[in-house]
Amino acid sequence: MPCKIAVIGGGWYGCHIASSLMALGFSVRIFEQNDRLLHEASGNNQFRLHLGFHYPRHAGTRIQSRDGFSRFIERYNDLSLPVGENIYAVPRQTSLIDYDTYKLIMTATGIPYKSIETCSMDLRNIDGMMKADERVILIEKARHYFSTHLRQVLSLGVKIKSVDHTNHSVTVNGEKFDYMIDATWGHFSPIQIETFFEPTLLLYFEAEEGLPAVTFVDGPLYSIYPTEEKTIYTLSSVPHTPLGRYRSIDEARSVRDNADKSLIEMKLDLMTQQALENVPNFRDQYKFLGPQLSIKTKPVGNSDDRSCYVGKSGRIFTVMSGKIDTIFFATERILSMIEADHGDVPRDVPSSLLTTIRAKATEIGISVR
Ligand SMILES: Cc1cc2nc3c(=O)[nH]c(=O)nc-3n(C[C@H](O)[C@H](O)[C@H](O)COP(=O)(O)OP(=O)(O)OC[C@H]3O[C@@H](n4cnc5c(N)ncnc54)[C@H](O)[C@@H]3O)c2cc1C
Repeated sequence: MPCKIAVIGGGWYGCHIASSLMALGFSVRIFEQNDRLLHEASGNNQFRLHLGFHYPRHAGTRIQSRDGFSRFIERYNDLSLPVGENIYAVPRQTSLIDYDTYKLIMTATGIPYKSIETCSMDLRNIDGMMKADERVILIEKARHYFSTHLRQVLSLGVKIKSVDHTNHSVTVNGEKFDYMIDATWGHFSPIQIETFFEPTLLLYFEAEEGLPAVTFVDGPLYSIYPTEEKTIYTLSSVPHTPLGRYRSIDEARSVRDNADKSLIEMKLDLMTQQALENVPNFRDQYKFLGPQLSIKTKPVGNSDDRSCYVGKSGRIFTVMSGKIDTIFFATERILSMIEADHGDVPRDVPSSLLTTIRAKATEIGISVR
């Protein structure tokens, strides 16, 4: 298959897709506008390797997470660490669902968990809680891994400005390719599903090493999650982390870049008040360190869909996902569409099972269609 492929964007998607295509023998170039990889959403998030517990309202997202979790560990074993004590707690008054419903959904999805009565953190107003095996993604190590692994095909500090597209090729900043993969999370070319851009504010806190990760589900709740630095934690809140919804990336960037001290102090106060509803010692245990500002691209809708989208228009693929674990799903969708273009996937050949049945039927004198 004569394929030269341009990948735009050096986030988790661009890096993983480029690296997988290279391993399969494709000729790849990857372009990133910043001077380092994993610089935007991929380097500014909660660093959680999800298993699906966040998404009781979206089956497709849970299933992709569950599958992506084990594949991530298999492929990038050194790029994440287990979280010692990882708790999902359902608050009594503020959750949209009760604990028994939450458990039924996770059981039906085949996601392993253990119901628990207590945990090492003092929690209040809880209907029920479970322990689960999620992990922390090691962002510095991941950046180093991809920078080394992709160095011969990587162009850093190169912003893609022009793309010309014919039936047979795509010309990217003047260079001709067979395919282009837009892995910019919707920042470069429009996505064919309705999305919006959401500037976000997470808060970093310092606390003693080994405190549990606690996520309160489901609905307008919040989570405290460790980072790769043993004494640093993030606090993310569904109602308070977003800084608005915008149709254009430029508006979202402007809000992110203009977040000032008063906004951050206001958010710190709101998020602390929220955390105190269930974690009475929050103020004593966690010392505020600073903000993390980023941008999410989200599909319109209330079901919390964070599943992976891969679109194709001629020779251009567009990839978007609300989580890192679907990098494998995205790569496979791209590969299957490239194969289909090249006719490598036989479509009209009867299956060998059908051939065998027909042969047997003919042998014993039964007429078959
Ligand atoms: C606050 C927050 C918390 C999150 N928490 C988690 C979590 O805990 N776990 C999880 O799995 N996911 C989480 N996510 C989602 C996750 O970060 C994203 O799904 C993922 O990082 C998307 O990766 P990406 O490679 O598609 O995009 P990005 O990381 O944004 O990469 C896109 C790259 O494209 C580059 N680019 C854009 N335009 C151009 C151009 N014209 N030319 C060249 N380069 C260009 C950008 O510079 C960027 O580096 C979170 C996101 C946010 C914002």
